[in-house]
Amino acid sequence: MALIVQKYGGTSVGDIDRIDAVAEKIAKFRQKGDDLVVVVSAMSGETNRLTALAHEMMERPTPREMDVLLSTGEQVTIALLSMALEKRNCQAHSFTGSQVRILTNGEHTKARIKEIDESLIRDEIKRGNVVVVAGFQGIDAKGNITTLGRGGSDTTAVALAAALKADECQIYTDVEGVYTTDPRVVKEAKLLKNITFEEMLELASLGAKVLQIRAVEFAGKYKVPLRVLSTFKEGVGTLITLEESSDMEEPAIAGIAFERDEAKLTVAGVPDIPGIAYEVIGPVSDAGIEVDVIVQNAASNDSNDISFTVKRGESDKAKQILDSVALSLKAREVVLDTNVCKVSLVGVGMRSHAGIASKMFKALADENINIELITTSEIKISVVIEEKYLELAVRSLHNVFELNDPNCENG
Ligand code: ASP
Ligand code: MG
Repeated sequence: MALIVQKYGGTSVGDIDRIDAVAEKIAKFRQKGDDLVVVVSAMSGETNRLTALAHEMMERPTPREMDVLLSTGEQVTIALLSMALEKRNCQAHSFTGSQVRILTNGEHTKARIKEIDESLIRDEIKRGNVVVVAGFQGIDAKGNITTLGRGGSDTTAVALAAALKADECQIYTDVEGVYTTDPRVVKEAKLLKNITFEEMLELASLGAKVLQIRAVEFAGKYKVPLRVLSTFKEGVGTLITLEESSDMEEPAIAGIAFERDEAKLTVAGVPDIPGIAYEVIGPVSDAGIEVDVIVQNAASNDSNDISFTVKRGESDKAKQILDSVALSLKAREVVLDTNVCKVSLVGVGMRSHAGIASKMFKALADENINIELITTSEIKISVVIEEKYLELAVRSLHNVFELNDPNCENG
């Protein structure tokens, strides 16, 4: 008999009918004999609604009271879901985060889990109950209610799975799993059966937002097998594990991630002396602007160009800062390009396969797409290109690296 932790997100429990449907699923699952701990989010829209109420009351709501307020969203769902289970003669027992004793630090609205007391949950499992736990919340050492930050129920589920040494943590959501790329861009995108934590982190941080990144990190750290699957459609979803697939035929590339809305800044003609990269990048990151791909040209005539990308929304601010930096460094000019995007190939298989980069660059060349910046890491190659080529680039790379789903109905 296995112990499974399941998590259902806000859309999955969005109204009474959906909560009923989830209960039906859980009751069937339970009949197979596995033990179940179920974590739920607030009904969709509820956390936003509560947040808006707080802001109606005061401009900057006190964090402690914000947590008291927001934690009620999940408390509603655990009660309703437990009722829906009991209605089906499936014994259930609900717990809020503080009842379980999900101990967090005291950082209201973005607390971190420190420790979970799993004894009460174990007792209820022994009594034959499905244990239903409120996601996204805990309690600090002084007894204050805390919340874990938006999307935090994923983290609750993974943390519970780790504490209970569950056999698997299943995240039920409104997509069928993790795809080789965004199916809205490539309709032949393939549902991945397996992916490693490392790859998932790269894909998640690159914009393939399926799971809260923190939850993936947590699962990787505590080696909790994590599965993403659909609440609404039958299927096995995507299993995220530590191990690289042993299948030799497995492609070197797991997926293609991309980010729109990037901007490129170039400081041209800075002196080629120690400390210059710091003088250029330092003030930008000191201003809280996240700097991404950074490239410095090889020096010619004792001068260099330094280019990097930022989010487009922050590019004007970054340009202003650089203009004054350029003045003091006597740089030639600062050029801002707001029409770029980033496309990345991700795969642990890259480590052992030569020629991935050249294959990527050839594919882009064949489409006449100019590469403006390139960066690589062990399991990722990213290029910055003109935004209008994003779809074309992703589609042709998806094709060249043979990621298309052969069974795609629309393919
Ligand atoms: N209800 C919280 C939110 O909407 C937590 C979650 O759904 O995971 O962010
Ligand atoms: Mg959610």
